[in-house]
Amino acid sequence: MTSNNETLFARAQQSTPGGVNSPVRAFRSVGGTPRFITRAEGPYFWDADDKRYIDYIGSWGPAIVGHAHPDVVRAVQDAAVRGLSFGAPTEAEIEMAELICRLVPSIEQVRLVSSGTEAAMSALRLARGATGRDLIVKFEGCYHGHADALLVKAGSGLLTFGNPTSAGVPEDFAKHTLVLDYNDAQQLEDTFRDMGERIACVIVEPVAGNMNLLRATPEFLQTMRRLCTQHGAVLIFDEVMSGFRVALGGAQSLYGIQPDLTVLGKVIGGGLPVAAFGGRANLMKHLAPLGGVYQAGTLSGNPVTVAAGLATLALIQAPGFYDRLAAQTTKLVQGLSTAAQDSGVPFCADAVGGMFGLYFAPQLPVSHATMMECDKEAFNRFFHAILDAGVYLAPSAFEAGFVSAQHDDAVIADTLTAARKAFAVVAGK
Ligand SMILES: *Cc1c(COP(=O)(O)O)cnc(C)c1O
Repeated sequence: MTSNNETLFARAQQSTPGGVNSPVRAFRSVGGTPRFITRAEGPYFWDADDKRYIDYIGSWGPAIVGHAHPDVVRAVQDAAVRGLSFGAPTEAEIEMAELICRLVPSIEQVRLVSSGTEAAMSALRLARGATGRDLIVKFEGCYHGHADALLVKAGSGLLTFGNPTSAGVPEDFAKHTLVLDYNDAQQLEDTFRDMGERIACVIVEPVAGNMNLLRATPEFLQTMRRLCTQHGAVLIFDEVMSGFRVALGGAQSLYGIQPDLTVLGKVIGGGLPVAAFGGRANLMKHLAPLGGVYQAGTLSGNPVTVAAGLATLALIQAPGFYDRLAAQTTKLVQGLSTAAQDSGVPFCADAVGGMFGLYFAPQLPVSHATMMECDKEAFNRFFHAILDAGVYLAPSAFEAGFVSAQHDDAVIADTLTAARKAFAVVAGK
């Protein structure tokens, strides 16, 4: 019997490359048929066969208050009837900017855009424009959207300049991007010693979430902060994923480090396309219309998307919101670790706020290289077994997971029941 998901996937592939509008959705890494989602509510979504799943991707992070939260839906509906887009400023955009500046104190001024890619790309241009330098430093395994300069991976060996990781990125662009190892403070020291006066910025995910979850060591981020200050380079924290996710003030509040610029997205739009970049006012003043760094957007600060963002940010400021979110996420990863242990499968897990990582490895990875040693085949077997049992994890061994405020004890318990079955499959029992 063919499922509706299979029928839709076959049809989608006729009109859309790979049948999806963003590559991981195609299940290439885990194999099998992507689920086509018809509706979502709270911690759940349903596929085209009307099968219900407990959702642990939450639209890759935005659904932090749960899917279709009534407050957010009402805010969107109210905004929509007043008009979908004006191309002229609104008071709601001021409220959003003021709120971001209050919640993330390193941000003195902020500009709203429509995607994390756009925000990261704009922050880079601003850093280059403000410093008059070309070189950027990024770290292997960190994702900052798909702007040309950021789709770059280092060649082998220390201090090699980047090669494009995507076709269509000219070598001439990639050669300005240096790719270093995450959590290697010494390598960063060496790089700044050799070419510090040429570096416009360092961009980093302060809690990495695009090579599975990987925490930065405090030493790594502190070294980065010190070197950027010493050499006049701009420190950019890409908190598109970690912002309003690991804590209300983002990863920077956990580490007590103030970046010069911060990139935000995902949670900030509550499921609609809002992203932002902001930071020190004396950097932001270089942006048009004040300064010479050009940046613009037809739908930037859109009244409907901003309404969704404001409603979401209102909910996450409730007292105890992050304590509860972190407690549920911890219950989940501890339960999974126990279930794995009972089944004899080498496994560990980690969580920061409402974000978690699952590793089919005996020890927590500490670098991109150790992350790559995780058992991808074991993850893939686990993924399909738990999916069959009604739990939707990110379809790749190298993606983080997300818990929402609607994942209550009963939902976690159901997840762990499904996980025990799935670990038994991995163990071959
Ligand atoms: C998702 C993500 C982006 C890109 O955001 P889009 O809205 O998908 O363009 C950039 N940086 C990080 C850290 C992300 O997790």
